Amino acid sequence: TYRLSGKAALVTGGSRGIGAAIVRRLAAEGTAVAFSYVDSEERAAEVAKTVEDAGGRALAFKADQADAGQVARLVASARDAFGRLDILVNSAGLSLMGKVDDPSLDLAAFDRQFDINVRGVAAAVRAAVPLMAQGGRIINIGSVFGSASPLPGWGDYSATKAAVAAYTRAWARDLGSRGITVNAVLPGPIDTDTNPAASIHAPTLAGLTALQRYGTSDEVAGAVAFLAGPDATYVSGVALNVDGGMLA
Ligand code: NDP
Repeated sequence: TYRLSGKAALVTGGSRGIGAAIVRRLAAEGTAVAFSYVDSEERAAEVAKTVEDAGGRALAFKADQADAGQVARLVASARDAFGRLDILVNSAGLSLMGKVDDPSLDLAAFDRQFDINVRGVAAAVRAAVPLMAQGGRIINIGSVFGSASPLPGWGDYSATKAAVAAYTRAWARDLGSRGITVNAVLPGPIDTDTNPAASIHAPTLAGLTALQRYGTSDEVAGAVAFLAGPDATYVSGVALNVDGGMLA
């Protein structure tokens, strides 16, 4: 079924992990997908090839989310590639762990996380909104750690994701009159390069979920497809936890 045929999307951070699964899923639903990466040129090419081999359309663009000029050019390139922009998924992000009294978690680490996870998202939305059609969709990948702090060592990251959640609500208000919805998906522990299900931390994180396991990137992509699709026309300003019940 091609629920999203004729639509065009931009997914930031689509070369690996959750973002790559979102690219594949939206493309499988018939969306033409532009996506960004910053370092992983080969991984990005693999994602695009996988989509093309499955009969879909995907184009990779190099753009650093920490650079608002590059983000603006990325958004314009995505719109030019397919002639329209219906869906923006902000998935690029990073986490740098450390407690507030840990010297290695300095203000440079603070800035890096806020530059990519918050400023980069705001830059993408500001660039995309003027180009988006009526009925556009903005989906921000937050984190359950933006809503709760079940473990030490995630303060700065949690604060960036709390900011994303606040922006999601605020932008839903700002853009509602244009028929654009803005929602967030808040993943729990998802098996990716950043958070491998095989790491020594994994049993602790899995144990905090009701389902007692890690989730997959495809499970997050399914929630994004719902919010991007025809069943979510009256959903705006929500945060959808995809966390195996971690916050239950
Ligand atoms: P990965 O580390 O697996 O992938 C990160 C992606 O973001 C890559 O495509 C990477 O590109 C891109 N990226 C990183 N920095 C930049 C940058 N400066 N400019 C452009 N792109 C960049 O991450 P995940 O898939 O695990 O996470 C994706 C999102 O989900 C993040 O926002 C994360 O905070 C969130 N999340 C993840 C959870 C998890 O357990 N995995 C839990 C909750 C939230 P490149 O390949 O070129 O480096």
